[in-house]
Amino acid sequence: MQEFKHFINGVYIGSQSGKTFENRSPVDNSLIGLVHEAGREEVDAAVAAARAALSEPWGKLTQAARIELLNKVAERINERFDEFLEAECRDTGKPHKMAAHIDIPRGAANFKAFSETLANHPTEAFRLDTPDGAGALNIGQRTPKGVIAVISPWNLPLLLMTWKVGPALACGNTVVVKPSEETPATTTLLGEVMNECGVPPGVFNVVHGFGPDSAGAFLTAHPGIDAITFTGETRTGEIIMQAASVGLRNISLECGGKNPAIVFADCNLEKAVEGSMRSAFVNCGQVCLGTERIYVERPLFDAFLRRMKEETAKLKPGRPDDPEANFGPLVSLEHREKVLSYYRLAEEEGATVEIGGGVPDMGAALNEGAWISPTIWTGLSDDARVVREEIFGPCCHIRPFDSEEEAIALANDTRYGLAAAIWTENSSRAIRVAEQIEAGIVWVNSWFLRDLRTAFGGAKQSGIGREGGVHGLEFYTELKNICIKM
Ligand code: NAD
Repeated sequence: MQEFKHFINGVYIGSQSGKTFENRSPVDNSLIGLVHEAGREEVDAAVAAARAALSEPWGKLTQAARIELLNKVAERINERFDEFLEAECRDTGKPHKMAAHIDIPRGAANFKAFSETLANHPTEAFRLDTPDGAGALNIGQRTPKGVIAVISPWNLPLLLMTWKVGPALACGNTVVVKPSEETPATTTLLGEVMNECGVPPGVFNVVHGFGPDSAGAFLTAHPGIDAITFTGETRTGEIIMQAASVGLRNISLECGGKNPAIVFADCNLEKAVEGSMRSAFVNCGQVCLGTERIYVERPLFDAFLRRMKEETAKLKPGRPDDPEANFGPLVSLEHREKVLSYYRLAEEEGATVEIGGGVPDMGAALNEGAWISPTIWTGLSDDARVVREEIFGPCCHIRPFDSEEEAIALANDTRYGLAAAIWTENSSRAIRVAEQIEAGIVWVNSWFLRDLRTAFGGAKQSGIGREGGVHGLEFYTELKNICIKM
């Protein structure tokens, strides 16, 4: 039986309490292994190891030496690509095809992308005139923030965790990671890679467990943590923000979304359908940037809906290693119950179920898994809960609109502000509309097209702060101004 242990000070250790919980496959509900649940002892040990490593040896390394080590980590993930792929797909059930294209390569690239940004980032300097004429020189010096707690979700486990660990370590911090209880495997495996690459013990630590009254809460409340970076639900973000308020610790929050797409009649229909299919259904709809509300200009509405239904009918669910499969299960039976409750609610709220709406028959070998049908609704009112709340499943509501102003108002009618997609061949309209959308990321004629140097983060209740490129420096470093009088 596989065991997922904590990784503390370069060594894998089990919980002192002996407490474990089951990790089950979403494909067929079979048992994958047992995960050790951290108590306060393990969290204390992980934070102590991270703090000890902070000044020495990690803090004594030059930036170039740190970057070289992190480049090695990226290369080693790629060398062990198949093991990471297998581990990620076992935990999440997602198709190998998808994880081999997105999760694992991006998981590795995250260690390189930020290193290059950092190596090329200039130091801020201002010369100040003074009454005596001699002047003064101001130099902005960035120092590591300290020990960073990284709390990550289950939908893109390796990618979203390394998106934080890469810049945190490059800036000279040390980390304690608490991966999602649903997906412990790739974060655990990364410990081996850190050791193989010679990253000093204590720089990268992992504790497993749940949120409330478990590893997540113990870690975020720990006074030895200097800053917390979190990706997950907005409600959890609020709780973590409260924990961070004790001791005025800094936070970075990447939270939920209810992202809109606006499809204008002058778009390239096939491109809009291809992009909207991905944004609604890739990763079984479990992408924070995914589209759950699609607004289509009325003259195109019928054609767009028909093409979406045709393409949805072609999605092929199957085991991760099935080369034909492009649609996996949801992450767990528990999450399926949540998504199905919205499928039921949609009908209660008066939706027309255009396609899907339930659970597919996957055959005896897979029917115990967390499978669900991709679903399209029409006909809901703008205040329906299904249109307002994040579902995080393979589903979207499609509604017609008549004017640009109406489309913008509908898109912005949400407490979230993570991402949006606009489909039009009219570039001045694209810019005009994009400027009025209340979101951190707006794509025009694309979706999930990411340049890792750009800012990533949400407006409104989708988060606080920006990650990516130089923007990550604000969170992962302390900016000190040194003023030298000449
Ligand atoms: P979640 O909030 O339930 O859990 C995320 C992590 O927080 C897990 O590791 C969990 O154990 C931990 N946690 C839960 N309660 C905690 C507590 N009280 N204290 C400390 N830690 C706690 O989210 P999830 O279900 O794993 O992920 C799905 C959500 O993540 C969706 O809302 C999605 O939109 C969001 N998400 C956002 C982004 C983004 O970049 N904005 C990316 C991916 C996912």
